[in-house]
Amino acid sequence: MNDLRKIGLLGASGRMGRTIAELVGTTYSKQATMAESVDMQRGCMEDFAGVDAIIDFSLPAGTASLLDWMESREGPLPAVVCGTTGLDDSLLERLRRLGQRTRVIQANNFSPGIAALTSILHFAAPVLRKLGYAAKMTDIHHVHKKDAPSGTAITLARAMDPEHPESTEISSVREGEVIGAHDVVFEGSSDRITIGHEALNRDLFARGAIEAALWLCGLEENTGIFTMNEYFERRYLS
Ligand code: NAD
Repeated sequence: MNDLRKIGLLGASGRMGRTIAELVGTTYSKQATMAESVDMQRGCMEDFAGVDAIIDFSLPAGTASLLDWMESREGPLPAVVCGTTGLDDSLLERLRRLGQRTRVIQANNFSPGIAALTSILHFAAPVLRKLGYAAKMTDIHHVHKKDAPSGTAITLARAMDPEHPESTEISSVREGEVIGAHDVVFEGSSDRITIGHEALNRDLFARGAIEAALWLCGLEENTGIFTMNEYFERRYLS
């Protein structure tokens, strides 16, 4: 099927938004087209009415406005890829409820490498803890980042110990223009194990989000809320 998927972009003027728009227009031009771009001074939610999928990389207030608009609409809704971080429990709950009406992926990190790291830590952390290692994490990001610890750090801590994510001490460092680096260090009495990931450019997240949007558009189910790892497992591991 060669239908071009119509993409709506929220947070279009931001660092991530600009990267996504550029990639949709180049690398993904045979699969998708940038139909609508919305930001603070540009467009409005109503512009998203005819799109197939909305990619949201804005701030929590932007996600809240998007949810207000989607909840107020009747009938079929576009799919939603939500990459905005720092969402509180009530916004996350509203996204889950939206998943009963359309297809939604919410992830704090759309890098497939982080999805793989999450699976590795989910397996390794409990084993290493039983062996007496204590886990610590550093999350390093650029100085413009609003939330700390990063959404990715929280996701990794949850994967390591779903019941007690706070058992992993997280140190957040904001310096220069670092795109995103996460290191988990397991300290033993006589040795140290380090597992980490560093994003080298924003294309990583942008590609992951665009591919997730295309995947949602082609899904048989009309509804559902997916994490990055559920998507990753269904797409690459099954
Ligand atoms: P940015 O500050 O450069 O861009 C955010 C954009 O959102 C700005 O253009 C701003 O005007 C717009 N915006 C803010 N509030 C809005 C509102 N109420 N309505 C419409 N537009 C609004 O930030 P960025 O670096 O592009 O990151 C955007 C978001 O994506 C952040 O939450 C960041 O943490 C997150 N992020 C997620 C991933 C991931 O893989 N999930 C990767 C990188 C960044």
